[in-house]
Amino acid sequence: MQVIYSPVQQDHDPSSFITSGRVAPSPECPERAERFLAAVTGAGHDVAAPREHGIGPVAAIHPPDYLRFLETAHARWSALPNPGPEVIPNVHPGRHMVARPAHVIGQAGYFMADTACPVGEGTWRAARAAADCAVTAMDLVLDGAGPAYALCRPPGHHAFADMAGGFCFLNNAGIAAARAAAGGRRVAILDIDVHHGNGTQGIFYRRSDVFFVSVHADPTNYYPFFSGYAGERGEGPGEGYNLNLPQAHGTGDDGYLEAIAEGLGAVARYGADLLVLSLGLDPQENDPLGVLKVTTEGFRKAGARVAGARLDTLIVQEGGYLCDELGANLAAFLDGFGNG
Ligand code: ZN
Repeated sequence: MQVIYSPVQQDHDPSSFITSGRVAPSPECPERAERFLAAVTGAGHDVAAPREHGIGPVAAIHPPDYLRFLETAHARWSALPNPGPEVIPNVHPGRHMVARPAHVIGQAGYFMADTACPVGEGTWRAARAAADCAVTAMDLVLDGAGPAYALCRPPGHHAFADMAGGFCFLNNAGIAAARAAAGGRRVAILDIDVHHGNGTQGIFYRRSDVFFVSVHADPTNYYPFFSGYAGERGEGPGEGYNLNLPQAHGTGDDGYLEAIAEGLGAVARYGADLLVLSLGLDPQENDPLGVLKVTTEGFRKAGARVAGARLDTLIVQEGGYLCDELGANLAAFLDGFGNG
């Protein structure tokens, strides 16, 4: 497996997030990437640095005002009286508010869905590097060089076109998928993170040229709460090109693998010739944020299932948080994919 990784991604080191009313250390920490990197090097995969692609591939799905906010927010925030070290919103546009403020505090609420994505001094650099990893890895796939794994951090699937959320700023998988679709490929995204890929769904919800499938834990009592239900099937020209497969909390290997198989069946009926796999390792039974019961062997079988689709495939890292099995889960997935 070709692995694309940039150490610049570690310049994003968020200090906190709020969970159930408590301020806690952010689980989306640089050590995650260190674990992933150790797992892929330990398994003998080749690791290369990304090429710098400029803003073009990112701007294909993210609008200019949002990108300008991400790029300038930390400097503007730092100029506030008595600022904190990171941009964290404390007011959001509620359902009855329509103004578009120019002030950085108002914009933080407008462009960020929640408090899980603090913008620090290095966040923009890191997010750009993560997108470059996804684009570089996608170019390997498009060039016929075989499957590739983009070791992306921060992750991307909760980032909408114009809104950060859930640890995510730029939608790495979406950027890569849009690039392939623009090149004439018939693209599907399969998201198997424990959380619904709400940002990715939002980006492609009215599009028929990228089919989106998400296997995730039931959002009725779980993040992201406001989407991820089976009735969300796309809108307008995108109607019928969005498939959500929410799973009961506690679902283990068998249910998870059946849902992946169902998703891959839909991908095949769509006629995809290229697959972007949003790989979350947080369905693991010991993941600190997870509610499913997938085992390391389950991830090995999941990798084999995905490989069995026989599609040109880009694997993009999404969630998966510090637990003893984190690196082993990635190694097992890639091993299962390689032997599937
Ligand atoms: Zn997740």
